[in-house]
Parts: sequence; C-alpha cells; structure tokens
Amino acid sequence: MVEHLTENQGVAGSSPALPTTAPPIPVASTTPRVITKSDPTRVVIEWDDGHRTTFSASQLRKLCPCARCVDEITGRAILDPTSVPQAMTHTDVRLVGNYAISLRFADGHDTGIFPFVMLRERDPGPPRV
Ligand SMILES: [Zn+2]
Repeated sequence: MVEHLTENQGVAGSSPALPTTAPPIPVASTTPRVITKSDPTRVVIEWDDGHRTTFSASQLRKLCPCARCVDEITGRAILDPTSVPQAMTHTDVRLVGNYAISLRFADGHDTGIFPFVMLRERDPGPPRV
C-alpha cells in the first residue's frame, strides 16, 4: 500500500537572525596561520598570534576525540594511551572546514577531527628533545 505524502509547503521566509551574544574573549588565538605536516612524526601549528604548537603524531593519536576513542556519553577515554606507540606517524592531514584538522594515522585510524580550539588548549608545550 502506498500512501501519498504531501510535503508541507513551508513559507520561504527570511532566515532567523543570529543571536547577538558576544563571543567569549579568547585567551589565545585558535586560528592557525601555518600548519606544517611534512614531518610524519609531528604536526606544527603556527597560530595567528605567533605562538607555535608542536604535537607529535603519538600525542595527537592519544588526543583523538572520536567516538571510537572517547565514549560519547560519559566522555571517558576508550583508547588505551599505552597502546599508542611513541613512534606513531600520520599519513595524511586535512583541513576540516575552517575549524579543525583530521588526521589519518599509521595505524589506519582516521575518524578523529581535531578542532583548532582543542589543539590550542592541549598545547603540549615546547617539544622535548
Ligand atoms: Zn579516534
């Protein structure tokens, strides 16, 4: 039995006005100027304010916020950080819109999206030699 469905003919109106609440004052730039991914063991982000953040691929793999690594409901880590080798590399780094990067890691994991805000917050500090 086929039911004929008619769609509501919505009135094409003007888009609702955006809320006018002021954005929170950022403590640090979360806009990258340059993202260097040529070294597969690390990603270097140079921010708009001149600050430079270096993540090793291993650190990023452990930070992965995707649903396979972090429980979406409880926010608990599913990924065991000790299972991530220090020598982890990334095989691909892509921009996601203008707010994040996604990485493919040598272990094949590629479902994580790393928002710039998070990357700036989790800045591990100067790379240890
Ligand atoms: Zn993940």
